[in-house]
Amino acid sequence: MGNEFLIDTGLVNLAYLVASILFILGIKGLTHPRTAVRGNFLGAMGMLLAALATLLAKGLDFRVILAGIVVGGLIGAVAAARVQMTAMPQMVAIFNGFGGIASVLVAGGALAIVLRGQAPPGLQMIIATAASGLIGAVTFTGSVVAFGKLQGLKLFPSSQVIFPGQKPLNALVALATVGASVWLVSDPTDIVAYWTVCGISALLGILLVIPIGGADMPVVIALLNSYSGLAAAATGFVLNNNVLIISGSLVGASGVILTSIMCKAMNRSLTHVLFGVLGPAADGPSADDVYGGNVKSASPEEVAMLFDSAQRAVIVPGYGMAVAQAQHAVRDLTNLLESRGCSVEFAIHPVAGRMPGHMNVLLAEADIEYDKLKEMDEINPTLEQADVALVIGANDVVNPVARTDPSSPIAGMPIIDVDKARTVVVVKRSLSPGFAGIPNPLFAMDNTLMMFGDGKKAIVELIAALKES
Ligand code: NDP
Repeated sequence: MGNEFLIDTGLVNLAYLVASILFILGIKGLTHPRTAVRGNFLGAMGMLLAALATLLAKGLDFRVILAGIVVGGLIGAVAAARVQMTAMPQMVAIFNGFGGIASVLVAGGALAIVLRGQAPPGLQMIIATAASGLIGAVTFTGSVVAFGKLQGLKLFPSSQVIFPGQKPLNALVALATVGASVWLVSDPTDIVAYWTVCGISALLGILLVIPIGGADMPVVIALLNSYSGLAAAATGFVLNNNVLIISGSLVGASGVILTSIMCKAMNRSLTHVLFGVLGPAADGPSADDVYGGNVKSASPEEVAMLFDSAQRAVIVPGYGMAVAQAQHAVRDLTNLLESRGCSVEFAIHPVAGRMPGHMNVLLAEADIEYDKLKEMDEINPTLEQADVALVIGANDVVNPVARTDPSSPIAGMPIIDVDKARTVVVVKRSLSPGFAGIPNPLFAMDNTLMMFGDGKKAIVELIAALKES
């Protein structure tokens, strides 16, 4: 069942060139919600073209490829259909891992085929193979650990795993991966050397990710995403496949850019994320110390009265809005407030929710005009002029200790300064902490009212109370 529709290398490369241009236009399109759907489509078309050109170019056995498409397609379709929006980071993590292991296996397979022939692999191929194995294996096991932590699997504690001598051990294992890679490059005929590189790198992936926990996980996932791209680019050099080199480099570069944006949003350096320690400080103030009987709760009717005289409201959505699926109710509330002459804007923190752009996606799903969404830097200087800041299921991204307590795990993370608004209303079910696991003094401030309840239910009740008032 060999491929009989061979097309010539010139045509294949032309198709790869067009595919690469489509990828770049696709990424450009994704930079704005208005062009995002078209961008996504262009990227998908690029991938289709690249895959078709590759399939038609080589004398392939389609049985294996079809089996791969069926198994992989099924897993992908079931996973995508079942995943909750809030579990998206885990899904991205595990898909990065699949990318890493694919690079390991493809590069290993390519090396095995070359070794079956007479001539040993050339220098470019063997260096690229070592890079594929190393980066791919680190990506694979690192991503599996990240997935396990975020999914709350028992085997992977979500907090950091720290033990004495950890950093020297990590450095030793990192040195061993380099050593094994040098062995492979100096003796390219020994496939055992390749699998040794992969094995030690797999161990390194686990060791590098277990000490990272808490609020740093999203940064690690963005970084692993970048690694999966670099592994694919290296595999492109192994196979001499231009489109794989280009697409891998695009993923690698965009992952690094996203990593840097997220580090800035959390005010953390990448070195600190990777080698520092972050988590609920054991000696931090307890919830009782922070709240100390100062929390005031308010009913939807009382909050509706506040809105009666409000001219300007700022809504701050967070992870809890996603859990409660409150975005449609929030849209109805926005429309109602605007019809009563109160302007409404949304303050979007770059790491609100559980994935980059999480809030933007949810609000777009509810058809909330994109112009109403303001980035943190734009809205912060105007919060003093807000009559009401309505925080819906957000916690860490509005926690003032980030500004005030240098020993806090979120110290220095830029936050949305809701505490500066005239009145703050916080909608959440209890006083439980957010992702970073620390109490939030905002809830006990003089100008804060807590409206306890599920995000969606509370907003629906608020709408009803507003209509009655
Ligand atoms: P947080 O995780 O800080 O807080 C969310 C709050 O939502 C909780 O305190 C919870 O309180 C409340 N909540 C949960 N369910 C509901 C519900 N059904 N109705 C109403 N409230 C609910 O969220 P933020 O968005 O403020 O901050 C995001 C955090 O996640 C940051 O620490 C960030 O670093 C981290 N992170 C971000 C990622 C990203 O890429 N955006 C990825 C992974 C982590 P209660 O239980 O009392 O209701």
